[in-house]
Amino acid sequence: MTTCYVGIGSNVGDRAMFARRAVEELKQASGIELVSVSSIYETSPIGGPPQRSFVNLVVKLETELDPRQLLEATQAVETRLGREPSDIHWGPRVVDLDILTFGDEKVSEPDLEIPHPRMTQRRFVLVPLLEIEPDAADPWGTRYADLLDEAEGDVELLEKY
Ligand code: ADP
Ligand code: MG
Repeated sequence: MTTCYVGIGSNVGDRAMFARRAVEELKQASGIELVSVSSIYETSPIGGPPQRSFVNLVVKLETELDPRQLLEATQAVETRLGREPSDIHWGPRVVDLDILTFGDEKVSEPDLEIPHPRMTQRRFVLVPLLEIEPDAADPWGTRYADLLDEAEGDVELLEKY
């Protein structure tokens, strides 16, 4: 079993509802056990076109899947909740699931990069991650808490999960 963290975001429709449904879908996916869920945060969009603010949260999972199988599982959740393949990169979407870390593994492929390459610049990832795992560190030993000051974006607690 591998411990991993997945970031979930939504900025269309009932954003918190989509985020909660994504968590429920992960809970039911085979080969995945949900360990913990952060609070739900309201966050400012970073990159992409001008758009509505997001809600974001982070979940901690244990999985027997490999990284690519986990990507397929998270993409299946996005599709089931109605994400369109045409959704703009960094643009509005009903739900976005990003694999943040996968144990201490590093993956560098065109369609799969782990740790997620932009996570350390994004407070909307780091704040919920640190809520559930204050000592989290990347595969090279850098503590995510030490990167928070340099990350960007506004993050406000919206509701407890
Ligand atoms: P972003 O999440 O940065 O806004 P998108 O969700 O639009 O970007 O990008 C989706 C693509 O990102 C997917 O097709 C997937 O192959 C690729 N990708 C690369 N690394 C990861 C990762 N760690 N987690 C999820 N998707 C990833
Ligand atoms: Mg994504």
